[in-house]
Amino acid sequence: MQGLMQDWPLVLHTVIDHAARQYGTREIVTRSIEGPIHRTNYNEVRARSMRVAQALARDGVKLGDRVATLAWNTWRHLEAWYGITGIGAIYHTVNPRLFPEQIAWIVNHAQDRVLMTDLTFLPLVEAIADKLPTVERFIVLTDGAHMPQTKLKNAIAYEDWIAAVDGDFKWASFDENTAAGLCYTSGTTGDPKGVLYSHRSNVLHGLQASMVNTLAVSAEDVVLPIVPMFHANAWSLAFTVPMNGGKFVMPGAKLDGESVYELLEGEKVTFSAAVPTVWLMLMQHMQKTGAKLHHLKRVAIGGSACPRAMIDFFENTCGVTVYHAWGMTEMSPIGTVGTLKPAVASLKGDELLDLKAKQGYAPYGVEMKITDDEGVELPWDGKKFGRLKVKGPCIVRRYFRRENEEILDETGFFDTGDVATIDPNGYMQITDRAKDVIKSGGEWISSIDLENLAVGHPDVAEAAVIGVAHPKWDERPLLVIVAKDGKETTREDVLKFMDGKIAKWWMPDDVQFVREIPHTATGKINKLKLRETFRDYKLPT
Ligand code: ADP
Repeated sequence: MQGLMQDWPLVLHTVIDHAARQYGTREIVTRSIEGPIHRTNYNEVRARSMRVAQALARDGVKLGDRVATLAWNTWRHLEAWYGITGIGAIYHTVNPRLFPEQIAWIVNHAQDRVLMTDLTFLPLVEAIADKLPTVERFIVLTDGAHMPQTKLKNAIAYEDWIAAVDGDFKWASFDENTAAGLCYTSGTTGDPKGVLYSHRSNVLHGLQASMVNTLAVSAEDVVLPIVPMFHANAWSLAFTVPMNGGKFVMPGAKLDGESVYELLEGEKVTFSAAVPTVWLMLMQHMQKTGAKLHHLKRVAIGGSACPRAMIDFFENTCGVTVYHAWGMTEMSPIGTVGTLKPAVASLKGDELLDLKAKQGYAPYGVEMKITDDEGVELPWDGKKFGRLKVKGPCIVRRYFRRENEEILDETGFFDTGDVATIDPNGYMQITDRAKDVIKSGGEWISSIDLENLAVGHPDVAEAAVIGVAHPKWDERPLLVIVAKDGKETTREDVLKFMDGKIAKWWMPDDVQFVREIPHTATGKINKLKLRETFRDYKLPT
């Protein structure tokens, strides 16, 4: 017997419709690419996203077509997402930090018909434009007054483009499983892979992220999404915040410590989300200037492991609650969030920091397990580590245009490529990427644990650990360090600091000091590049 309730498709325009109706005058503030702070609200953004939809339809863009965006977090980018999806076309977020050849590869693979770009990336787009045969039109996300001369095909300023339609338009109707967004993984190994979100998965994920034990976004919140919309769906904030009527503060192109601080204070931000490297810049700015935070209540930190020292800074120096979160493009992206269950709510001091250094537990909608290499499930004892596998309605089933490739195991779980433990309370801790774990004498050493420990040293700004070939043990850990500005420390000093805090056989065999550790386009330590740098390095014997 079927239930007798309404079939109300979970499509994205219902989100912006709801935001406009219930929270119409709630502000959306942007540090614009042109410079000044720009202010609008949900009413206006909805009306203008309808113009985007109408203009795209007029240009012949249809259900299922891909529209690329190379853009920072701004009100125009938000309008573009809702406008594109409002006719059943697909927003394809392109990460501008990728190499130009990779960007061209991705745009061609996605067969984008239209490309929207911020002024910032115009030179980049112009340089690769003749390698983008599928793109019929370029839209520059600015107004006529700021529109530069360009030879791009059919180029037009966004404001002129949407002014040419009357805005009298109805959202298209289609099934909730229709594709809505496309985001490629950064492809540090092999070609980038496209994750194709549906309207249903984005709406469900927006709800999932809203829940009190997840990000707990409410109408009272002022939310600064520093995580870019081109990085894993901006952790769902473009859906979660309008669903719940939060005030939006969009940082545009300026993500340095000073600019972020200015927005946090000036707009009275209560909740923000970013990768650790961005928070590191804010911390350094605050430590240098002695600035304090007066409004911020919660921060979500993820994308790579959040160092314990950072959690300590936010929680104990600033009085800001840290939600350490883990996820991936393939999961829309939230997999776990470190909010506190009653079983751990009384933890204090170091014990609380230990818990918060874990990546948290899975919200409703994410099933999780760890297995050994043979697929046998491992216990949740907080000690055994194994391959982390996930299942749920917002998790990838196939990659875009690789539909013949089976990527789920026989039980329907997706192997995340991460290695983790799960404790009896359900808190998961990433010990490594499967490909970064150090295999020493048949046992595994977690590079992340060593990195976390090393950055606890007062003179260490950033640390990375890679495995180096060893004649007896296969691989041994090499610790690579960037010292804090103006600080000097030695190999012996760092090793002495680590000694006794980990098993003897986990101790790095050597420490190397570098000026900078390479990062990927999504802010992770680029271990591939680091391994190349140290290819000819020999461990001391
Ligand atoms: P990309 O692969 O394109 O760089 P993703 O954000 O999809 O971007 O990367 C997902 C991966 O990032 C995860 O599989 C995991 O290895 C890592 N990651 C994400 N959050 C954390 C975290 N809090 N701690 C450790 N690793 C993390």
